[in-house]
Amino acid sequence: MSFVARLKWFFKDRWGSYAIAVCLMTAVSLLSTIPPKMIGNTIDLMNKGTLTSSALNQTVLLLVCLSLLLYVMVYIWITTLFGNSALIEMMLRGRLLKHLTKMTPAFFQRNSTGQLMALATNDILAIGQTAGYGVMTLVNTLVGASVVIAMMLSFISAKLMIAALIPLPLLVVVISKLGGKVRTRFIAAQESFGKMNDHVLESISGIRVIRSYVQESHDLNAFDRMTSEVMDKNKRVSILNALFQPLISLIVGVSYSIGIGYGSYLVFQDEISLGQLISFNIYLGMLIWPMISFGEFINVLQRGSASADRVETAFAQQADIQDALEPVRIEVPTVIEMRDLTFTYPTANHASLDRVSFRLERGHTLGIVGRTGSGKSTLLKQLLRQYPIEREKLFISHIPIENIELDQVKRWIAYVPQEHLLLSKSIRDNIALGKPNATPDEIARAIEMASFTQDIAQMPEGLGTIVGENGVMLSGGQKQRLAIARALLIDSEILLLDDSLSAVDARTESRIIRQIRQERAGKTTLITTHRLSAVSHANWILVLDEGRIREEGTHDELMLLGGWYKEQWERQQMEASLEE
Ligand code: ATP
Ligand code: MG
Repeated sequence: MSFVARLKWFFKDRWGSYAIAVCLMTAVSLLSTIPPKMIGNTIDLMNKGTLTSSALNQTVLLLVCLSLLLYVMVYIWITTLFGNSALIEMMLRGRLLKHLTKMTPAFFQRNSTGQLMALATNDILAIGQTAGYGVMTLVNTLVGASVVIAMMLSFISAKLMIAALIPLPLLVVVISKLGGKVRTRFIAAQESFGKMNDHVLESISGIRVIRSYVQESHDLNAFDRMTSEVMDKNKRVSILNALFQPLISLIVGVSYSIGIGYGSYLVFQDEISLGQLISFNIYLGMLIWPMISFGEFINVLQRGSASADRVETAFAQQADIQDALEPVRIEVPTVIEMRDLTFTYPTANHASLDRVSFRLERGHTLGIVGRTGSGKSTLLKQLLRQYPIEREKLFISHIPIENIELDQVKRWIAYVPQEHLLLSKSIRDNIALGKPNATPDEIARAIEMASFTQDIAQMPEGLGTIVGENGVMLSGGQKQRLAIARALLIDSEILLLDDSLSAVDARTESRIIRQIRQERAGKTTLITTHRLSAVSHANWILVLDEGRIREEGTHDELMLLGGWYKEQWERQQMEASLEE
C-alpha cells in the first residue's frame, strides 16, 4: 500500500494508460476462456457422434482468428504497461538529480556517493519494475483467476471447483510468512551494493595513490570481500525467491490432482460430461499462471516498496539552507561585514571560527592568512552559505545574508576552491562552465589574465584538449590557473580565491595578481594564501590562528606590529632571494 501512496503522483498522472492496459488485460483473460469451452464442446459432440465437418472447420477458424486478436491485444497492453515502467524510471532519476543539485555538503557527508548511485540505479529500477511488471502480475492474478473461476462455476461444477481450490489458503500463509523476510533481505543487499559502489569509486579515483603505495592486492582483497558480501546477500534474497515459486507450483499441483481424481469420479457418476472434465482441467491449468503471478507480485511489490522507501528518504532530506520566506532583493552587493561570527562544522566538536569580525568595502581586497588549519577556507565558505550560521552575523549591503535570496548570492560570487574540481571535458568547456555562451574573445581574455595562454598553446588540441577525469592530464599549477580563468570569465561582483596560486611559481603568481587587480578594479576580492606576497597589496589583512583573528591591518601596519605576519614575511622574502 505504501508503494502506491508514495507514487500517487505518478499513478494519478498515468491513470489513463493504466486503465487501457487493465481493460485490455481483462478482455484478454475473458477471451482466453473461450477456447477451452469450445474444445470441451467439440469433444462432447464427438463423443455423441454428432460432430459435422463444417462445425469442426468453423471451430478451427474461430480459434485461429481469436489467437490473432489476442496477439494484437497483448502487444498493446505490454507496450503501454512497460512504457510506464521506463517513464517512471526516467522521471525519478531526473527528480533525484535535481534534488541532489540543491543539497549542501552536510547531505553528502551523510549519504555517500555509492549509496546515491545505488539509489539512482538499482532502487529506481526496482520501482520501475513494480510500476510495470508488478501491476501486470496483480491484474493477472485478480482478473485471470476470477474469470477462470467464474467459468468453472457457471459451465462446469461448483463442487468440483471448491474441491480443487481447497489448497489455496495455504498460499496466503506461505506468502505472508516469506514476504516480510524478502523485504528485509533485499534492503540489506542494496546496502552492501552501495558500499561496494563506494569502494569502486574510491579505488578508481585513487588508483594512482594505491599503486604508488603498492596496495593493489590489499585493495583487491578488500574488494573481494565486498563483492562476496553483495553476492551472499543477493543469494539470501534469491533463496527466498526460489522457495516461493516451487511452493506455489506444489500447491497448484495438489489442486490439479484433486481436479483429475474427483473430476473423473464425477464423470463416472454422470454429474459432468467428459468434455466438461477436459475444459475444467484446461481451466485449472490457466489458474497456475495467476497463482505464480501472485507470488511474483508479492516479491516485486516488497522490493519496490523497500526501494520507494529509500528513494523517499533521500527526497525527504531537505537542504539545511533554505531561502528566507520573503527574501530581500539587492541589486549590487556593497559592504561585506562579519560581526562576531562563531562557526562550528556540524560534525566537529570545536569551533573553526571564533568571534570573527571584519568589514570590507565594495571594490576592496581582503587578504586572509594564517597557519594551516587556522580557518581560512572556513571563513570564505561562510559567504557561499553551505552551512547554517547564526542569524545576523554576516551582512551584505547591511542585510543579513540569510535574508538574501540564495541564488542571488551565488550569482555574485566566483569561487576558486582550494581543491580543484574539473570535469572530464575539454579545457574550453571547463573554463566556460559558469558562462556557456562566452565568446572566444572573452575566453581568451580570461585565459590571458590567468597566465594560462602559453600552456594551452602546448596542449595537443589547444582549447579542445580533454583534460581527463578531474584533470589528470594537467599539472597542479595548470589546474589552478584553469580554475582561475573559469572564475575570471564570469566577471563576478565578489571573487573568492582559496589558496588558488599555491602551485605556481612566485613570478607567475605576482603577474596573475597584478592582472586580477587591474581587471577587477571596483570589485570585491577575498584571497587566502600561504604566500604573503599574494596579499601584501590588500586593503586589509586578517591573520587567523585557531579560528581567531590574531593580527589585522594593512601590510605596513602588520609589519610595524612585528608579530607572526612580520616574521613570516621576512622568512618568505629571504627564501625568495635565496631561490633567485
Ligand atoms: P589550509 O591552510 O590548510 O587550507 P585552512 O586555514 O583553510 O587550512 P580550514 O579548512 O578552514 O583551514 O579548517 C579549519 C578547521 O576546520 C580545521 O581544524 C579543520 O579540521 C576543520 N574543518 C574543515 N572542514 C571541515 C568539515 N567539513 N567538517 C569538520 N571540520 C572541518
Ligand atoms: Mg584552506
